[in-house]
Amino acid sequence: MNLHDTLAANLNLERGPLWGIGWADLADDRVAAPVGWGERAADIDWATTVLSDYGVGPGEHCLMVSDGRDYWPRQVEAAVTALGGFVGNINTASYEVRRLSVYLRYLTPKILVGLNTKLAEAIGRDEALIALLRAVPHVFAFPDAVSELRRAGIEARAISPIGPALALPCRHGDAAHVDGSQFTVRQHADGRHLVLTTGPAREFHLTDAVVAATGTVRDRCTCTLPGPVIDLVG
Ligand SMILES: [Zn+2]
Repeated sequence: MNLHDTLAANLNLERGPLWGIGWADLADDRVAAPVGWGERAADIDWATTVLSDYGVGPGEHCLMVSDGRDYWPRQVEAAVTALGGFVGNINTASYEVRRLSVYLRYLTPKILVGLNTKLAEAIGRDEALIALLRAVPHVFAFPDAVSELRRAGIEARAISPIGPALALPCRHGDAAHVDGSQFTVRQHADGRHLVLTTGPAREFHLTDAVVAATGTVRDRCTCTLPGPVIDLVG
């Protein structure tokens, strides 16, 4: 038996009940969030629609900044792959600026997803990295990091998990969207926090849960994408 046979035999095994388990950051806790196969497919389809507007296509590099334990990067990566692109990875520690620098010099990404504040601060101290980042067509960063990057003259759009959901910035508008077929999002009475309810078909159930991410829920976006529209707050 060789590697190909082993893989083929695995494909014939009965599929497990879950695709996997991610984490959901709620306002008061971080909880395990199981992900089923059906919702996994829906999550990828939705992210594929959003990313296709950015021109991610065959042979193009999407560089992810993520820790392996999180689900949302796996959703974005699968969408990039579905569009024919390929994925590079660095993790979220500030020392990863070294690997980031190598990627930016030798495997220029079309899109860079998930920069955090620590990395943004490290980038801001390095003129060569700033110049390289400015050449990346699309940079998605966590809300706090967006303002840090802008101080260095790097244009970035805000991205954030919303508990078990993901808010992705749209290409033709000025906000971030959540998949309305899977989640509903409303504004907390405090005007800052977000309140999320999961769709009935999802494995992980939340009803009116206050999530860790903050933002302002808007009625609509200037683009044509559906779903809850959020201004993410840094
Ligand atoms: Zn939009």
